Amino acid sequence: MVESNDRKQQLDKDLRSLSANLPALRDIAAKKASVVARQSGAGSYTVGPIPVNLGAWQLLQDILKFARELARALRFAPSFDAEFVFKGTLRHLDDLLARPDAASVCEIAHEASKRLSRHLEPPPAMVMIGKCLDLDCRAELWCGEDDLASGWTVCPRCGRTTSVHEVQQLRMVEAATYGVQGTAADISAMLRDQGIKVRRQTISQWKNRGIIQPVGQQDGKPVFLVWDVWKAMNR
Ligand SMILES: [Zn+2]
Repeated sequence: MVESNDRKQQLDKDLRSLSANLPALRDIAAKKASVVARQSGAGSYTVGPIPVNLGAWQLLQDILKFARELARALRFAPSFDAEFVFKGTLRHLDDLLARPDAASVCEIAHEASKRLSRHLEPPPAMVMIGKCLDLDCRAELWCGEDDLASGWTVCPRCGRTTSVHEVQQLRMVEAATYGVQGTAADISAMLRDQGIKVRRQTISQWKNRGIIQPVGQQDGKPVFLVWDVWKAMNR
């Protein structure tokens, strides 16, 4: 009985923290997002907004998905926003904990609230390079300068030693599937947040030398695909 009380308390705490911190995450996930007019055969069209902080954006998607699942389980109206769902769930903790999937719900809530706190208060001089390559783990990997310089990092959850480059490569493949793009300055800042160093000037030089081609323009500045910049870095 003690154990189930502990579980209830932890879930209560995690849901409160998710609800309180979610607005700040929404801000970070939307940060610097810009709308880019892209040229195509039929004329120009608009894409965006484009997440600059991919880690925060992905975390937001995971948390919103969890809120939708909670809302469905508790038969809330689908129009409720996630903050409201987490707060509303506090009044149904016993129902939730009686469900066969209670353990997994508690685990997801706890993991999400831990990840969220970490995004809002990142350890100094650390960057989130991506997720653990172990498919059963997928913990976020935060690296300091030492890890980045050595090229290796150890997952805090499963203990797997992983190549920094491999994690970054997977992250860039994801970015490519979303068509993430930006000006040389945008991309340089975005990659720096993920522990990848490429100067704005270097990207511009690659364009001048024909190594990468812009895919559009924003306020008169060329816009590139983040994937093209990554390929140029690793050519
Ligand atoms: Zn791991």
